[in-house]
Amino acid sequence: MKAAKHPHRFAVPTAFLVMLTVCLACPRAAAQAPTQTKDRPVALKGARLIDGTGRPPIENSVLVIEGSQIVAAGKAGAVSIPKDAAVQDVTGKTIMPALINLHGHLGLSNNGADSAAGHYTEENVAKQLNKYLSYGVATVASFGQDEDLVFSIRADQRAGKIGGSRLFTAGRGFLEYTGKSNPTDHRYRPQNLEEARADVRELAAHHPDYLKMWVDDGLGHGTKIKPEIYRAIIDEAHKQHIRVFAHEYYLADAKALLAAGLDGFAHSIRDQAVDNELIMAMKSRGVFLIPTLVRDETLFAYADNVKWIDDPFFQSGLEPGALTIIRSPQTVGKFRQDPDIAKYRAGLEMAKKNLKALSDAGVKIAFGTDSGIPTRFPGYLEHRELQLMVEAGLTPMQAIVAATGTNAEILGGTKQFGTLQAGRAAEFILLDANPLDDIRNTEKLSAVWQAGKPVHSVSAGSTSTRASRQ
Ligand SMILES: [Zn+2]
Repeated sequence: MKAAKHPHRFAVPTAFLVMLTVCLACPRAAAQAPTQTKDRPVALKGARLIDGTGRPPIENSVLVIEGSQIVAAGKAGAVSIPKDAAVQDVTGKTIMPALINLHGHLGLSNNGADSAAGHYTEENVAKQLNKYLSYGVATVASFGQDEDLVFSIRADQRAGKIGGSRLFTAGRGFLEYTGKSNPTDHRYRPQNLEEARADVRELAAHHPDYLKMWVDDGLGHGTKIKPEIYRAIIDEAHKQHIRVFAHEYYLADAKALLAAGLDGFAHSIRDQAVDNELIMAMKSRGVFLIPTLVRDETLFAYADNVKWIDDPFFQSGLEPGALTIIRSPQTVGKFRQDPDIAKYRAGLEMAKKNLKALSDAGVKIAFGTDSGIPTRFPGYLEHRELQLMVEAGLTPMQAIVAATGTNAEILGGTKQFGTLQAGRAAEFILLDANPLDDIRNTEKLSAVWQAGKPVHSVSAGSTSTRASRQ
């Protein structure tokens, strides 16, 4: 069995892994597989419960779990606790759904900071999926820089052979023809309409969860994919019943993409303020936007030595050597000398303003980080993104709903995961303080549960193995 064979960074007993992987919470397995273990039901009582739907929190709640599933969630007294349940008093904690990162990348780095080639291996992808999970990110949607190997990794995970964060993938994304290319870049670069359609059909044979394409000129340094090419990509993808999500930067491109039938934006619009035309077009078709504010912040964070680099919760989850790399004079110098650094700062400020405007207008706001690119660390950046969304003017509840209920809906998982209701995966985090009071309290991570069991989690100050048999 693969999970046991691979060197596992965390000292989790093999027996535990075997048990965990039996009912790994992939949507189909979780929904259909009969409960394989005859464990007693578990009831967590006394916590504040944020269920991910946007409903007000339930103080003094009861959450009842059987196997990998939630069977009841509600106010103490209104939920009956099975007689044979193992009751855990978690008074003072807050329980909320595990986070869902709708824009991540996998297998592009060995330790999170380096960017050497040849890292796209099953072992490396699995390691990163475990990293996400240890920070309470139990689902990650990989966005277009995978190799075809990802489809067998996804199949292995859905068969219960690989653990970690639940994986969705676009497979290989679509890019302009004349951009920078290197041998480790496996993205499609169709030269003409026929190639574009043929490439989409080839991708479709792998059953990607959605399609990702880039529509950007890298602040003028590259060549943008031509509108007739992206229109063919969208049209052919829709014929294959695949939704198309785009990396975009400019407002004008966003409008043209909407007119072409795009289904979701992978980033904020950063060149100018959004307007009513865009808002109306997005709302009329339920098109979402993933702000990825932290992506823009990481373009200058290391140059500025921002405060969160010292955050124990950030450092606790780093692989050996990663901190040395991001603090090295070479890395800091590279970021400081980037001629576009002022544009990155301005881009983040514009992104924040636009996020607030879109949210206030009722546009669907999703949640994602663009983590997994070297120096954009999986796991920690998801917590930082919540903070930036609140800095932009969203309430903590709005940011949490984007990262849980809304993202689950976008991934087609509403009935399986993302909210803490009967019939959903028992997949949540326990916090030592209330994130609705201060969103930074999601960093006060006390435990991560997946498939009805606590798993290894990162905590500020040290990594600790909190996994234990019930
Ligand atoms: Zn990305």
